[in-house]
Amino acid sequence: MFAAHELSSNSKLSVLVVDMGGEMEKRSCPAAETGKCIGCKPCHIMCGLGGAGGMSSGILNLRPDIGGDLGKLVKSAREAQKLVEEVDTIFLEHGAPRKIYGRNSKEIDELTRRAAAAGVKFIPIPQRHIGSEYLPKVVNSFKRKLERQGVKFMLNSQVEQIGNGEVIIEGKHIKAKYILAAPGRVGADWFAGQARKLGVKLVHGPIDVGVRIEVPAVIYESVVKVNRDPKFHIRTKTFDDFVRTFCTNAQGFVMEERYNNHIGVNGQSLRIKKSKNTNFAFLVHIELTRPITDTTAYGRSIAYLATTIGGGKPLLQRIGDLRAGRRSTWKRIERSQIEPTLRSATPGDISMALPGRIVTDILEGLERLDKVIPGVASDSTLLYAPEVKFYAMQITADEKMETNVPNLFIAGDGAGLSRGIVTAAATGLLAARGILAKAKV
Ligand SMILES: Cc1cc2nc3c(=O)[nH]c(=O)nc-3n(C[C@H](O)[C@H](O)[C@H](O)COP(=O)(O)OP(=O)(O)OC[C@H]3O[C@@H](n4cnc5c(N)ncnc54)[C@H](O)[C@@H]3O)c2cc1C
Repeated sequence: MFAAHELSSNSKLSVLVVDMGGEMEKRSCPAAETGKCIGCKPCHIMCGLGGAGGMSSGILNLRPDIGGDLGKLVKSAREAQKLVEEVDTIFLEHGAPRKIYGRNSKEIDELTRRAAAAGVKFIPIPQRHIGSEYLPKVVNSFKRKLERQGVKFMLNSQVEQIGNGEVIIEGKHIKAKYILAAPGRVGADWFAGQARKLGVKLVHGPIDVGVRIEVPAVIYESVVKVNRDPKFHIRTKTFDDFVRTFCTNAQGFVMEERYNNHIGVNGQSLRIKKSKNTNFAFLVHIELTRPITDTTAYGRSIAYLATTIGGGKPLLQRIGDLRAGRRSTWKRIERSQIEPTLRSATPGDISMALPGRIVTDILEGLERLDKVIPGVASDSTLLYAPEVKFYAMQITADEKMETNVPNLFIAGDGAGLSRGIVTAAATGLLAARGILAKAKV
């Protein structure tokens, strides 16, 4: 939509936005209320007007290095920041609230100082919260503006094939001089297949492997007051690896995720039902260089091993048991002060599933975090494994977002360029500018 905005504001090119999902009003997900996915096709959470962001709580992270790294895509940090501001201005124009959280507050300064003293980097992020209840209004207002500027929408329409100056949508061939592929995480595998067929260069991106941590909500309370999803970055002592917190769910629930051949864990907060715990991912960043670069295969092998040891369920262990070199059992867990929110897990030994280096990183990282948030690494803290974040294959493109296949441009999460609303939108602006430069309009 941001690319369509840029194109329709600055040219007479005819612009068609195709999406396999539907209008905002038609998007509803039972899992958001109940926690149970019934497998809608296409998934309402991921697909439709506004993309995956359309059904989210609409947190706009107003930093170019969060949800990707725009600084690496443009010439200067200033240019990257300007892109963030341009995206934010469009959201404001369509009704995003003016209030910004996480900027210049005493609490943020104090948390930053406390973290720095413990050798942890707290990343203060100026954030705008649109909120899931207002998102439909914002997205629809944006759509109406685009329509007034001549943009056409073709929803509930799945693109099957792209390339050679055309797009095939459910058997129908549509001519397209320029194609901008922005299929998001949901369309990443499909797009990687298309890219391979067309001879577009792609490489494996990094992955994040670790655990989901669950602590009593009171331990994290003061931190989530400062930032709903606080981001802490840590370099570990033994391996100098990068570990970070991600996706915090205050008073939330740990969930099991099922993939084709392995399981994983994630977290969620439900709108109505609240738990007494807070969970967050604690992840080690892994990049492979030589001779193997296939991070996806490596991450999957770890997930398979954890699935085997867990008997097809996520593994659950208290940190105290991990430190003592023994497995957890339900009896031991029941003696703790915290009750796990995911019951369909197997109490066991995470060190039999995750590589030693990752286990060391997790233990060292948590001990450091405990200096900022006392209690986080106490013996009763629960660890669930495996949590593996696979990202899309990185599609290679020039600074105008054009691939080595002429007139095929890319943007967003599905091309491995971003992992958030603002950064995805910014890459849309860059791609549109690339098209405008080529079309010389
Ligand atoms: C539940 C959830 C909550 C999130 N919350 C936040 C948040 O608060 N803040 C934040 O910054 N980020 C959040 N994110 C991440 C954010 O939504 C994404 O980073 C962002 O939407 C990526 O934008 P995109 O345009 O690249 O792709 P998407 O938004 O994923 O859009 C891709 C679109 O392409 C369509 N598509 C894919 N393949 C095809 C095909 N073959 N034919 C037709 N259409 C196709 C899909 O239907 C989809 O609508 C959240 C993600 C999820 C899943």
